[in-house]
Amino acid sequence: TKIPFDNSFATLGTDFFTHQMPEAAPTPELIAYNDALGSELGITQGDDLGAIFGGAHLPEGAEPLAQLYAGHQFGNYNPQLGDGRAVLLGEVIDSKGNRRDIQLKGSGRTPYSRGGDGKAWLGPVLREYVVSEAMRALGIPTTRALAAVRTGEQVYREAMLPGAIVTRVAASHIRVGTFQVFAARQQIDKLQQLCEYTIARHYPDANGPEGLLQAAMDAQAKLIPAWMGVGFIHGVMNTDNCQIAGETIDYGPCAFMDGFASDRVFSSIDRMGRYSYENQPDIAIWNMAQLATSLVPLMPDADAAIERFTAMLHVMKDHLRAEWLAVFAEKIGIANTRVEDAELITDLLDMMEKGGSDFTNTFSALTRGSAIDEITDRDAYQAWHEKWQDRLKDESASEALMASRNPLIIPRNHRIEQMITAAVEGNFAPFHRLNKVLSTPFEHGDDTDDLKRPPHTHEIVPATFCG
Ligand code: AMP
Ligand code: MG
Ligand code: MG
Repeated sequence: TKIPFDNSFATLGTDFFTHQMPEAAPTPELIAYNDALGSELGITQGDDLGAIFGGAHLPEGAEPLAQLYAGHQFGNYNPQLGDGRAVLLGEVIDSKGNRRDIQLKGSGRTPYSRGGDGKAWLGPVLREYVVSEAMRALGIPTTRALAAVRTGEQVYREAMLPGAIVTRVAASHIRVGTFQVFAARQQIDKLQQLCEYTIARHYPDANGPEGLLQAAMDAQAKLIPAWMGVGFIHGVMNTDNCQIAGETIDYGPCAFMDGFASDRVFSSIDRMGRYSYENQPDIAIWNMAQLATSLVPLMPDADAAIERFTAMLHVMKDHLRAEWLAVFAEKIGIANTRVEDAELITDLLDMMEKGGSDFTNTFSALTRGSAIDEITDRDAYQAWHEKWQDRLKDESASEALMASRNPLIIPRNHRIEQMITAAVEGNFAPFHRLNKVLSTPFEHGDDTDDLKRPPHTHEIVPATFCG
């Protein structure tokens, strides 16, 4: 296997990372390799994929390192986090000319591991593989999964569980927390260096720290409404999980909603509902406020910068709202959004919330037939339906638009759990099936009815864990 590494983060110097070899998996066994992504990255594959993505064999050109970062976890600042169970192997320039990180996650301890073992178990590895690739097929910016490997080792969580490693591909792993750590330590020269590196890598047209902040805000303002449009709840929107390039990153406790509830939370540790479905836009603003704060020291006049950045955060709120409106308008077949459309959308969501309607299936039914079975209040639905049809008279190609925006299949939480249970017992068929079906979420596949239906009572998975 040959990976055409072209590493740049490693040249920033050891204030930004620690050189760190991955720990070799004792008996690495390849579970999955993403061929299409591999060729996009220019990788020539040999028969040593398991050894390479199991950390047992270091490919030529790799310069493994663990990155330093800090972050607010549930609103509390942690001055030092960093890659505690991940190492960056290096970067490649992909077939489109974009620089991409290749990172092993679950490959052992690093100087940033604190009390952790640096390992991952099979469950979160397969969840990240399936859900990140599903997000990509849904058209949502995300990190990708290149490989999943069983290490042959047991890791201890609440029980002994099979160890595994996921290879994650990202535009980069630069987060809000990467800026926070240098700002908090008042290493202004390093902060400046990071700012310049990030602009060159992600937003070459951005003008200085303010341009970078604006670009990062715009990316978040696109990303979060896209999540909401598929009923996705990230679950752990800490500033260290908020990537500057605007990809969805960290699939720990994430989940897709079945029945619509605007205050839905899945993560077992999110007791206050900080990262609930409907709070996600406000949290994105909060995270961008932390980035803004970190960039102030790079500005010539701190007071003027604070005033300017505050104004930008207010505009971001409007931007998020406009994107949300556009996403949901498209879901009901409206390409040319008007302000009044917000009411039409909100009325629909209110009916769905009252009836606990299945989020995915309601929009899917609106697209492909009648949603009357999903919404319990028939009179309200009829009235809404009339208004909606009336509005659609001013639109063309609504059906095609809706069909391209309303997936038939999403990675439902109970299917993920069932897939993990099977995998732990040695059966990877459900994992491979999910990957295959979720690669075309807008198409009717054969024999996929079971994946479309919401969970039966005994299948419901009420909470998720960080792994
Ligand atoms: P996360 O909640 O996944 O964003 O992780 C937060 C921090 O905890 C990061 O610095 C991780 O690297 C670290 N971490 C999570 N799990 C482990 C583990 N098993 N061993 C070491 N560090 C970990
Ligand atoms: Mg994380
Ligand atoms: Mg995580």
